Amino acid sequence: MAQLDVQSKLAILADAAKYDASCASSGTAKRSSAGQKDGIGSTEGMGICHAYAPDGRCISLLKILLTNSCIFDCHYCINRKSANVRRARFSAKEVVDLTLSFYRRNYIEGLFLSSGIIRSSDYTMEQLVEVARSLREDHGFRGYIHLKTIPDADPLLLEAAGRHADRLSINVELPTVAGLTRLAPEKSAVRIEGAMAGLRHAIDDGRDATRRYKSAPGFAPAGQSTQMIVGADAATDRDIVGRASTLYDRYRLRRVYYSAFSPIPDASAVLPLQRPPLMREHRLYQSDWMMRFYDYKPEEVAAAADPATGMLPLDIDPKLAWALRFRERFPVDVNRAPREALLRVPGLGVKAVDGIIAARRWRRLRLEDVGRLTRSIAKLRAFLITEDWRPVALAERADPLPTAKPKREQLELFAA
Ligand code: SF4
Repeated sequence: MAQLDVQSKLAILADAAKYDASCASSGTAKRSSAGQKDGIGSTEGMGICHAYAPDGRCISLLKILLTNSCIFDCHYCINRKSANVRRARFSAKEVVDLTLSFYRRNYIEGLFLSSGIIRSSDYTMEQLVEVARSLREDHGFRGYIHLKTIPDADPLLLEAAGRHADRLSINVELPTVAGLTRLAPEKSAVRIEGAMAGLRHAIDDGRDATRRYKSAPGFAPAGQSTQMIVGADAATDRDIVGRASTLYDRYRLRRVYYSAFSPIPDASAVLPLQRPPLMREHRLYQSDWMMRFYDYKPEEVAAAADPATGMLPLDIDPKLAWALRFRERFPVDVNRAPREALLRVPGLGVKAVDGIIAARRWRRLRLEDVGRLTRSIAKLRAFLITEDWRPVALAERADPLPTAKPKREQLELFAA
């Protein structure tokens, strides 16, 4: 590997890290003010992303790979050993120095570190742990650290990672075992889930210990997350929702990130030639939200998908798709319905529902009262009964609702 300066390594390894989903800030349209007289700011650079801390704050992270060299050959990955890309590798010390210098300049509040597999899973994991250890122990770094862990690594190394990092993640990579076997032949679904189970126990034990003894060392207090690539294999949205829900249940994940497969330079011939619509990724995030915040069961979310194709509609959100499929449940009376029924009303969020429940203790709510709690009452009218409003039962309406009109074009999720 040619000798590169830190700046060149940063350009390569921050760019290579963009395929790791941990934030929504990296998909915007490219704009650069370099060389322009009247411009300021740029969205071209890689390397800084945003994530949510356990207390809900949005924090900026230096997001890089330790190396983009890898001994594995996962078809969908730009860093796979057979890909013809420029390689670079940071030493653990270089990552530590970069993190500290960015932190001191107030560019970042933490580090997101991933890596290709260098010599072996253990060797790579040792390097990742060394970065986190050195930041914490040698430099007293109190910022956020998210480490991508290697499932095959020695459990003792994963344990050490959890002592220093706030969050650990292990990618399941693909929604189905068949997809993983075909596209990442060196990876094993059993080993990946085994490592996730180990992390779950360590996180639970760590939480118990810190509850009992203040001085007990914590273990990955921000929990574990995973990432799934969407659109590289034949898995349907229904498959993906089912898999995500199993992972949440079994390993108590904080987040499942969905990453729309993106055709990479020098792509393997077994991959599709086109990326799936970005809106598909967005709809999956919405379905994830339905399970985590609106108490939908996975089979209910799956019922919002087209029965023939198993895909969620792209033109309307899955909560509305579900409501249109189960029209007999609407309209819902805001003055009497239980919280669960209100949460099913398309366009009513958790905050608005809690506001309705609090307000109706004192008075019977009218349409305008609900309007004060939401962004657009026009879209909700067909789904609600209020003191002064009773629409035709939804099941009796054959016309498409105003909210259900299909949009003509695929939206760019991050269009300016
Ligand atoms: S192990 Fe990770 S870095 Fe290596 S080829 Fe597979 S996905 Fe890419």
